[in-house]
Amino acid sequence: MANKICPFCAIPEEECSGLNEHAAAFRDEYPLAEGHTLVIPKRHVASIFDLSNEEYRDLWELTRAMRVEISGEQNPAGFNIGINDGAAAGQTVSHAHIHIIPRHDGDVPDPRGGIRWVLPEKAVYWAD
Ligand code: AMP
Ligand code: ZN
Repeated sequence: MANKICPFCAIPEEECSGLNEHAAAFRDEYPLAEGHTLVIPKRHVASIFDLSNEEYRDLWELTRAMRVEISGEQNPAGFNIGINDGAAAGQTVSHAHIHIIPRHDGDVPDPRGGIRWVLPEKAVYWAD
C-alpha cells in the first residue's frame, strides 16, 4: 500500500531500473558510488522482516539481479550490500530497502571491515 508521505512510494515504476512482481529497484538520489542502487518491496513496510515470504523472496531475487546488472555497467571489484533496519541502526527512510553499493579498489585507503564501520570505535579487530 502506498504511503502518501513516503519518497519511495512516490517513485513511478517507469523510473525504476529493475522490477519484479513484489519489488522495485532504482538509483539512490545521493549515491555513495556510481551505480548505488536501492531495492525496495512495492508494499510500504518499514522493515524487510514485515514482508511475506513471497515479497521477501522477490526483494532478494531483485537484489541479485541488480548486482549482476551493476557489475556489467561499473565492473566493480566488490559490493557492500546493506540494510539499515530501524532508526537506531541509521534508517532515515521508513520504507524498507536494501542498499547495493559498488566498490572499487582504492576508493578508500583501507576498506577492511566494511560494514563494521557503522560502529567506528569497534570496527578494527585485526590489529591485536
Ligand atoms: P537509509 O538511511 O538506509 O534509510 O537510506 C535512505 C537512502 O535513500 C539514502 O541513501 C538516500 O540517499 C536515499 N534517498 C532519499 N530520498 C530518495 C529519493 N527520493 N530517491 C532516491 N533515493 C533517495
Ligand atoms: Zn513507502
